[in-house]
Amino acid sequence: MMELINDLWFKRRDIVSDGYDESLDYISKTIPLKIHEIPSGTKCWTWIVPEKWSAGEAYIEDLKGNKVLDLKDCPLHIISYSLPVDKIVTRAELMKHLHTNPQRPGAIPFEFNYYERDWGFCIQHNRLKEFTKDRYRVFIDSKFEKGSLKVSDYTIKGETDETVVLVAHLCHPAMVNDGLTGVTVLVDIAKEMSLKTHHYTYKFLLVPETIGSVAYLSQNEDIIPKLKYGIFLEMLGNNNIHALQLTRQGSTRLDRIARYVMKRELTNFREGPFRKVIGNDEMAFNGPGVNVPMISISRYPYPEYHTSDDNPGIVSEENLNESKALILEILNILDNDYIPKRKFKGPVFLSGYDLWIDWRINKKLNENIEQIMLKLEGDKSVFDIAKELNMEFNDVQNYVNKFFNKGLITKV
Ligand SMILES: [Zn+2]
Repeated sequence: MMELINDLWFKRRDIVSDGYDESLDYISKTIPLKIHEIPSGTKCWTWIVPEKWSAGEAYIEDLKGNKVLDLKDCPLHIISYSLPVDKIVTRAELMKHLHTNPQRPGAIPFEFNYYERDWGFCIQHNRLKEFTKDRYRVFIDSKFEKGSLKVSDYTIKGETDETVVLVAHLCHPAMVNDGLTGVTVLVDIAKEMSLKTHHYTYKFLLVPETIGSVAYLSQNEDIIPKLKYGIFLEMLGNNNIHALQLTRQGSTRLDRIARYVMKRELTNFREGPFRKVIGNDEMAFNGPGVNVPMISISRYPYPEYHTSDDNPGIVSEENLNESKALILEILNILDNDYIPKRKFKGPVFLSGYDLWIDWRINKKLNENIEQIMLKLEGDKSVFDIAKELNMEFNDVQNYVNKFFNKGLITKV
């Protein structure tokens, strides 16, 4: 997963940009993405797709031509979607357009202005003292032109059209944890899931933040009724505990499964209601007129957020693998869960039906045989039973499947 990060992280991946498109092409070589192009100027519900933006040279220099800031050093040195500029400004005027992050004085902050445009530079806070001259020349050679916002999806067809959607951001230039870690985990999950058959259909969506989800949903309204659940993935590589943000509905099957998996698999995690952990595209998917229950899984917060310190050094393959395993287990339960309903009467003759479990092989299951047998009334799913008995879903599922194979239960 780190390979994708190392190859793509430093690209100028602004929302409609060549760097974004190149990154999609790169990922297309790993999983077969379908790319939806939505032209600049297209009205998407209440939003409008912005122009493509690119930046050539950009710098600040003193009047003797000594550069004090140069875009070549880091893509974050100018505001994303900055207007072009070429003029001499006073120090006071320059300061109005120079952004820093005093909380993280050694890092360049990430600033963007996609819609209310201005020109501007970003710099380490502790470099402000270098600006001692009265006047400076500011130069940004940026270009706005008609382009296409690109949203890509990869679909794994299941037994049903009911769809679970996984979403990650590919935008954000020269940053890793915010955006790209969600992308690389999503791509790896897609690769792994493509090898098996599933109950649900799965859609893996890579978008530029907010506008990408709004554009995709507004241009594909026919898909919305099929979307059953969603998971938003981001910030999964840093060293912090996982944060589960619940759906707007708050207690759907997905919420309960995600909480159950995190409780069982992790020593510690935190949980928060909708929009209270971190704001992302769940506002589009789980928002007005769409209402697809979407959880978000991240390791937010982290101190390097939206700065040049959000680089490959703060993320690890180990953390990415832990998050991937967690999400795969949530999807495993979601996909395989069903409601068993009893056809038998009286206690089942266990040895006669080969349903006896030796305590030496699985003590917990051995102890809970009768409890499981008593919960097959058609009002609880396999997951509900596992959760109530504090058991592994797979153990309960395998055992209840045996009842099904012996004709002792039906699947409701
Ligand atoms: Zn961000």
